[in-house]
Amino acid sequence: MEAKKDGGINLRNWNIRRAQIIVTYECNMNCSFCINYELGKKKKGFIKISDILYFLIYLKYIEKLEECIIVLLGGEPTLLPIEMLQEISDLAHQFGYKTEFYTNGTLNEKLLELDGYIDFITISNYGKGLLPFHNMNYLYDFKKSSITISKLISKEFFKTFEEFDSFIDQTNKLPFNYDFSTLQETTPNFSSYQPDWVETKLIPKLEKQDVRGNVGAALYKGRLIKLPHVHLPKIEDICTLKLYPNGNLSTTWKSDDMEIDYKNKVIELLKKIQ
Ligand code: SF4
Repeated sequence: MEAKKDGGINLRNWNIRRAQIIVTYECNMNCSFCINYELGKKKKGFIKISDILYFLIYLKYIEKLEECIIVLLGGEPTLLPIEMLQEISDLAHQFGYKTEFYTNGTLNEKLLELDGYIDFITISNYGKGLLPFHNMNYLYDFKKSSITISKLISKEFFKTFEEFDSFIDQTNKLPFNYDFSTLQETTPNFSSYQPDWVETKLIPKLEKQDVRGNVGAALYKGRLIKLPHVHLPKIEDICTLKLYPNGNLSTTWKSDDMEIDYKNKVIELLKKIQ
């Protein structure tokens, strides 16, 4: 990822205007394939609202982004106090940005309180059934936020392509968005999770490869299939902007060191206009 000379992001490569905020590494689950698992054990606590405010000013007035989706990730974001999550979403909206939220969906009541605050809620389906867990009928109660259920394509859930195919047919009868994703190749023990049929049966059937520009994704029976394990030619050009719980801003998953000194840029800007 090439950064601009002044330390900012290279917007030419930022096809998808989604800025990610990892609000905490902590989680109430313990998935073996979690990329934040080790960090989550060592690093506790939540991001500061003041860092988010600096970040939003940076996006709006330094990178001059008119449209952007602010994506809240964890760990598990619903471990934060509900007032804090609502405040973050309100702030993003005040800057004219939409909000998106990735959750394991286990803290039902808290999640429902975010209806209308978060524009797009994606619930990871780590359960066996169509809904993430057996007691998730509350998802039908959401009135304002758009709900997506995101299912991992793994041997645990789909032993054969036929099981996967039939699951997709069933999701098409429900009033939720569904998407599917393979694991990243860098996931520990990747081959023990990735079914063989992905390469032999699924990929040949995919339509409209690369539907999101540079991202490895395609459609199957109208459902988005994200394929982070597929290396597309321009994958290294994708800019993924991540604000970490320690307040550092980086373009990589590999480290939460400060790569873009956004706070100083905001401070310099404020000095100029005073
Ligand atoms: S629910 Fe998500 S964040 Fe939590 S341990 Fe599992 S993969 Fe990691």
